Amino acid sequence: MYLRALTEDVCELCRDVKGYFLTLERKLGSKPGQFIMLWVPGVGEIPLSVADEEDERVLLVIARKGKVTTFIHDNVRPGSVMYLRGPLGRGFQVNSNGRALIVGGGCGAVPLLFLTKVLARNRSQVTVALGFKDRDSVMLVEEFLKYTKDVYVATEDGSVGVRGTVIDLMEKLVSDGAYDFVYTCGKEAMMKAVVLKALDMGLEVEASLERLVKCGLGICGSCSLEPLGLRVCVDGPVFKGRVLTQLDDFGRWWRDASGRRVPLPA
Ligand SMILES: Cc1cc2nc3c(=O)[nH]c(=O)nc-3n(C[C@H](O)[C@H](O)[C@H](O)COP(=O)(O)OP(=O)(O)OC[C@H]3O[C@@H](n4cnc5c(N)ncnc54)[C@H](O)[C@@H]3O)c2cc1C
Repeated sequence: MYLRALTEDVCELCRDVKGYFLTLERKLGSKPGQFIMLWVPGVGEIPLSVADEEDERVLLVIARKGKVTTFIHDNVRPGSVMYLRGPLGRGFQVNSNGRALIVGGGCGAVPLLFLTKVLARNRSQVTVALGFKDRDSVMLVEEFLKYTKDVYVATEDGSVGVRGTVIDLMEKLVSDGAYDFVYTCGKEAMMKAVVLKALDMGLEVEASLERLVKCGLGICGSCSLEPLGLRVCVDGPVFKGRVLTQLDDFGRWWRDASGRRVPLPA
């Protein structure tokens, strides 16, 4: 069943990324890491993470990519109505009273914002490491700072925070063994490095994967992962590190619109 979503506000978060504050006809009730399918009648339907949820209000953060996201960027304004179904999939395991390290790259920061809020509410100590390409792609830092003062930023060109990747940041942060749990979302090559590093250090780790999600219900197989046949839309999008290391597809393959296995886009 679809929920009616009224657009209350739209803001520019960085180059080609906008935030959409929506009020739903009833509470969504998602857990951090779960996603929704956003339907724009006459245009299409796409999977999106929940960036924040409070009562009937939901924040979606949308990067301009192709047909649907470009339509939304160009046409959706306060007062516009869209529809969504969810919450879908399996989210992050939210621990209480723990010490969590969050590692996000680019738009991967989106589901990690909601996670950070809920972890902080559950009295976990949260450190956030965010990596971006350059100054124009830095986003959501102020929002993370609402929940923890320990937010570190890296940019590849050094224009904001430290110069380097979020992996460099992670290497520095984990060296003192201060964490029990690592959560990550971003480009898969980055997540693979995070997962391997965390497992190597004996830390629990979870990562949120992206694939072409069509039905969102586990039927069509467009987001299935070889060789275990796990589906991102119902078995994920969040997977445990130990499961990811058993997947040939992790960091290497995905399925194109026809379902063919092709190299992951860079
Ligand atoms: C569980 C999940 C959560 C997501 N959360 C967010 C989010 O919070 N914010 C956000 O901006 N995006 C998110 N995405 C990605 C988003 O769904 C795609 O960017 C979107 O579907 C593209 O639709 P489009 O019609 O604009 O692009 P299309 O016209 O379909 O495609 C344009 C280009 O984008 C690529 N593309 C299409 N779908 C995806 C995809 N799923 N992942 C990566 N590239 C894709 C295509 O290969 C093509 O090169 C998420 C994806 C998943 C699976």
